[in-house]
Amino acid sequence: MPNRTLLIAGNWKMNNDVAEAAKLADELAQALPEVPAGVEVLVCPPTIDITTVHDRIQAAPIALGAQNVYWEAKGAFTGESSCDMLKSAGCTYCIIGHSERRDYFHETDEDQNKKAKALVAAGLVPVFCCGESLEVREAGTYVEHVVNQVKAGLEGLEITCPKQVVVAYEPIWAIGTGKTATAEDAQEVCGAIRETLKEMFGEELANGIRVLYGGSAKPGNIAELVAKPDVDGALVGGASLKAADFASMVVKA
Ligand code: PGA
Repeated sequence: MPNRTLLIAGNWKMNNDVAEAAKLADELAQALPEVPAGVEVLVCPPTIDITTVHDRIQAAPIALGAQNVYWEAKGAFTGESSCDMLKSAGCTYCIIGHSERRDYFHETDEDQNKKAKALVAAGLVPVFCCGESLEVREAGTYVEHVVNQVKAGLEGLEITCPKQVVVAYEPIWAIGTGKTATAEDAQEVCGAIRETLKEMFGEELANGIRVLYGGSAKPGNIAELVAKPDVDGALVGGASLKAADFASMVVKA
């Protein structure tokens, strides 16, 4: 099996004002003065907190990412941030395609494709999220659903190195519900995602691309999840808001 560096990524979602973000970032920097070999750590705070978190984690082995981006370079796009703006604030990653953005803000696969391309062109790494609703899971068409999202979202993406993109499989029914997919469920879909990546980018690149699982990942299930051959880490919501829990996931991964 190719030796992929695991990625444990925290998605703070819309939590923590500036003072709270500073406190959590300090706690994380303290809890993770170093990370185990073969593991990479990422935190994605709300946009308003990015600069504060950047200052606090600078000396720690923790990468910084955003939760959203707009693909245009600049101009009259009220409320948005560009790739270069995120880069200038210290980000190296950006989550795109999260189900909350797709559901609540009506973002489409086409939007994700534009975001992915703009991020890669700017030298930032998209953490591309995909995943099915409970309805699709129960209908049994979830693999096809997720594969189609990956194809549409990453179509035409030009990468030369596997670290230029990360995919996160997040079944919507497992997000914030405490109902984690089993490690077998995660492997089934993450494996199918890797097969799709092989078709799209070739075997060598696809074998190096990190495919994460997300949805109630926590200290108690992280080891079992990443033991699966195609699960290369986790995108962590709730459990990333407590430094001790998040740090313990990094150690257990
Ligand atoms: P959760 O969220 O860990 O709270 O389920 C994961 C996510 O939505 O990225």
